[in-house]
Amino acid sequence: MTNMVLSSVYAAPAMEPRMDEVVTLYQNAFASAPWNERTKCAIDEATPSCPGGFSPLSIGQLCMTCDQHVTEPAYTEETLRAKFKPGTEGHGLWYVEETAVERKIVLAAFARITTIGGLAETVFGEDDAMQSWILERNPDPTSGVLWVEDVFADTTLRPSNNLYDFDKKLNRLARGSSVQTYMFQTLNPKLVRAAQRDFASRCKIADPLFKDVPNRSMVVTIERPTEKPISDTADAQAQRVAQNYASID
Ligand SMILES: [Zn+2]
Repeated sequence: MTNMVLSSVYAAPAMEPRMDEVVTLYQNAFASAPWNERTKCAIDEATPSCPGGFSPLSIGQLCMTCDQHVTEPAYTEETLRAKFKPGTEGHGLWYVEETAVERKIVLAAFARITTIGGLAETVFGEDDAMQSWILERNPDPTSGVLWVEDVFADTTLRPSNNLYDFDKKLNRLARGSSVQTYMFQTLNPKLVRAAQRDFASRCKIADPLFKDVPNRSMVVTIERPTEKPISDTADAQAQRVAQNYASID
């Protein structure tokens, strides 16, 4: 099967009408491995909840670790709508790959154009250890960052190879901004490998396994590659349009 996929970058408000689709895609994507974030174990002060609070169980099943019945989805629609709401923290952007005909989202990446100071305040505002960590590692709080908050795909539409040309996806998000750095945190080794593959020595990994970073996710920092200027001849435009299409199997 060959499907045409169109890739675009949208400002957060432009994606608002598509939030139903985004929410479902997000919930399905993070419910499976390596995240297993399908449901949340009950938060009860008397009983400690599971590490991270997330579980791969369905609602109503008994969690054998904390001995509680799971009661709610890992990410409620309300939480996700609030998370992706335009204009809350930094300049929100979406990179979207969608089927050319039916416009079904195959892959979505949500990012923010922000600064080191902005990241420390908003993304890590409630995590003192991470807040200190990021400010120590990056002494200039005004330095611009493309913070890639989430990358998720519909594997029923495209079972594998969703992270091809990962560098191009991030470069597209950064285009037109003056950020010097791309950053993201993740539990997904595939995302880290894609960054290493495409950005090579520009890419630095802080891994909790080696106590490089005080949270449970790996933090990836990428020095932004210098962009070749795009000359706006008809040829260059046609080439850009062609680049927007990728054939998938
Ligand atoms: Zn549990």
